[in-house]
Amino acid sequence: MNEKYPYRLITNKEVTYLQFSLWEKEDKLVHGFTTRHGGVSTGILASLNLGFNRGDDKEKVYENYQRVCKALEVECSSLVLSKQVHETHIEKVTEEEKGNGFNRPNKWESVDGLYTRTKGVTLVTHFADCVPLFFYAPGYDIVGMAHAGWRGTVGQIGRKMVELWVEKECIPLSAIQVAIGPSIGPCCFEVDKEVADIFKAVFGEEDFIQNTSKEQKYNIDLWACNKQVLMNCGILEHNIVVSKLCTCCHDNLFFSHRKTKGQRGTLGGFMALKD
Ligand SMILES: [Zn+2]
Repeated sequence: MNEKYPYRLITNKEVTYLQFSLWEKEDKLVHGFTTRHGGVSTGILASLNLGFNRGDDKEKVYENYQRVCKALEVECSSLVLSKQVHETHIEKVTEEEKGNGFNRPNKWESVDGLYTRTKGVTLVTHFADCVPLFFYAPGYDIVGMAHAGWRGTVGQIGRKMVELWVEKECIPLSAIQVAIGPSIGPCCFEVDKEVADIFKAVFGEEDFIQNTSKEQKYNIDLWACNKQVLMNCGILEHNIVVSKLCTCCHDNLFFSHRKTKGQRGTLGGFMALKD
């Protein structure tokens, strides 16, 4: 694994997206995390907005998805969108869910994580500062994605995915690899004492929950929190990669909810097993 360059930015058919170096040679795997570049949306949504709930024209959002699908070489009809509500429910999906939340109504009320063992089903999760967790086990035909905002992080959604894979899918712990994608970093994720206390109740007194120079304010490193959750449930450290890219610092590249006080588009995480 290349620690120094854990990811690479790729521009393909206009769309710029990020891929993890860890998986660049995995020819059975499709994965990507979009940036704001390569779409047709305008204004605060410029240009690759993947959220249907951001006040964008539906047609533009569909065109944006079409461009991403072309770049990643997946069919738009294979997309399965989750229903993210900052909880920790995870669904296993198959052929049956294709199109969910995309060209047919979202059948779920609360789904912050998806996984599949079915080839040709493309998992889609949405972000704008929250932490994207990408799961893969080379050789086992399984992919998963989770949306870990601060609530999903303290709710340990990463652990839930690992437990499902190990207990229900019989995947060996040592085979599971996890990539932690771009999100708000410790540099920009400042919270009040009440939120910091919730983190301390789960993680204890850790240096990734830092008192700032301001009274009653804390900076939290969500990447370190999620890495700790994964290591505590037995994922090997060399199987965890952290992109260490802050969406709030790099708002020219990513949509950031905090930076824009909510005036932003939506980024997408994509994963599939090739047909
Ligand atoms: Zn930052």
